[in-house]
Amino acid sequence: MLKTDILIIGSGIAALQLATKLNQHYDVTIVTKGKITNSNSYLAQGGIAAAISESDHVYDHAYDTLKAGEYFNLPFIVNYVTKKAPNIIKQLINDGVIFDHINQQLILGKEGAHQQRRIVHAGGDATGKHLINSLINQLDDSITLT
Ligand SMILES: Cc1cc2nc3c(=O)[nH]c(=O)nc-3n(C[C@H](O)[C@H](O)[C@H](O)COP(=O)(O)OP(=O)(O)OC[C@H]3O[C@@H](n4cnc5c(N)ncnc54)[C@H](O)[C@@H]3O)c2cc1C
Repeated sequence: MLKTDILIIGSGIAALQLATKLNQHYDVTIVTKGKITNSNSYLAQGGIAAAISESDHVYDHAYDTLKAGEYFNLPFIVNYVTKKAPNIIKQLINDGVIFDHINQQLILGKEGAHQQRRIVHAGGDATGKHLINSLINQLDDSITLT
């Protein structure tokens, strides 16, 4: 019988980041759908949006996101996510994720409704694959995968 403090179902970016955080204090088990790379996260391509350039602002990112959603999206969620995004990118970089860069500057793409360059990507259009592989490499051996 499986015994664990924390059971995480799935192995996308949310699951892998949570596992690494909780593993510092608890015994963690991740249940995968056969393979740890089975997730939407692994398939994600274009990149992750975050207001990180000097000419950008989290309020502009929030505004573009609300506008793209025809104002159907919940403003407090949009504000929360866009505000958190720059630090999460920094955290991923600190955790070893290598986003595409040139001369030590991140290459920022401009896509869709974004009015600023704010998309970080890895391996061109293989962002999810690079990110997930990097998070898998950081998983502590004490985490059980099943
Ligand atoms: C082709 C594609 C391209 C994308 N491109 C981008 C992009 O460029 N930029 C961007 O920001 N977002 C992109 N996305 C969206 C992005 O991938 C998701 O928003 C993000 O990965 C969600 O992460 P998550 O960890 O919450 O969920 P997921 O990565 O979906 O992880 C969920 C996990 O739960 C598991 N699971 C589900 N049901 C069960 C079950 N019943 N039993 C066991 N396990 C289960 C799955 O196997 C998976 O491991 C893209 C998505 C796809 C499919």
